[in-house]
Amino acid sequence: MAEHSALLKVEDLSRVFTVRRGLSSVRQAAVDHVNLTLPADRNEILTLAGESGSGKTTLARMILGMQQPSSGRLHFKDRDVTRLSGSERAWFRKQVQPVFQDPFATFSPLKRVDSYLYETVANYHVAPRRQADEPVARALEAVGLSFREVRGRYPNELSGGQLQRVSIARALITDPALLIADEPVSMLDASLRMSVVNLFRELKSRQSVVYITHDLATAYYASDRVAVMLRGWIVELGPVEEVLGAPKHPYTQLLKASVLEPDPRQQGAAERVTLSAFDTESFARTGCRFADRCAMVMDRCRTIEPPDVPVGDVAVKCHLYVDGEQPQLQAAATTRSSSSGA
Ligand code: SF4
Repeated sequence: MAEHSALLKVEDLSRVFTVRRGLSSVRQAAVDHVNLTLPADRNEILTLAGESGSGKTTLARMILGMQQPSSGRLHFKDRDVTRLSGSERAWFRKQVQPVFQDPFATFSPLKRVDSYLYETVANYHVAPRRQADEPVARALEAVGLSFREVRGRYPNELSGGQLQRVSIARALITDPALLIADEPVSMLDASLRMSVVNLFRELKSRQSVVYITHDLATAYYASDRVAVMLRGWIVELGPVEEVLGAPKHPYTQLLKASVLEPDPRQQGAAERVTLSAFDTESFARTGCRFADRCAMVMDRCRTIEPPDVPVGDVAVKCHLYVDGEQPQLQAAATTRSSSSGA
């Protein structure tokens, strides 16, 4: 029986920014009434997938406690992340650790990489200074590196893949229950990406991972569940085999048709869908934010916000499913994609 009702519970969470538009300004919800839960009784890799401007990084920053929500609730192990006391905040920072995108920017070229690991041991009071080798060696071992490979080395003496592993090792030193990995392989060569993605799969035996990416190929390979984000909304959420194997939402269909290759090393063969990151009009539009691009658009899509509709194990934010229909979207969505020049 799980000690907590959920590891992470995000309820109706929003973050609104004010965006200048000429002489006026508009309020834009970068994350708009989002719901998702990570279970407490098993570890899971949940991918937040979406393009630039979809809101995935803003959502991740709120989960990390780096950004305050405008509204909604955010609980980690039943504690309200937005109202942690001083001691709870120290506990939370050990429990939820970030892994950053660019290993080359994470480490100063003038500083030995192992010093970051020892600093983490000291800053989080993981072990006394004389015993710091033990958690450092343990974390390096967990990411497939040895002390000997890393000790005394500067960043330019390690490969990008090794540096990202050290970066992940740093995050593991506090033995967190949750890693938030924001585009952790996007700066790596294609040949190294899969080894780091594999590493997250191995780490799942010890912690859950929120994996943030625009790359559906690695999302397909790494995840248990996927949440597809579009302009602040989660438009499709469910098991990876269903969401990326047989997508239901027209946007997920379009994304898959545009970017997904079965083998991530072959990625790039297909044309990518791109939406403007600062398309403020679509954020402010009444109705569905995908209506201007959707091959299945209906009258009500332009005036009424679509609800989250359960379809089997998947939640789909789309009017098409409201009446329990199972529309065949693939052909139409793909046709629209090519005719619109997406
Ligand atoms: Fe398309 Fe309407 Fe569904 Fe939006 S709600 S994705 S416009 S069918």
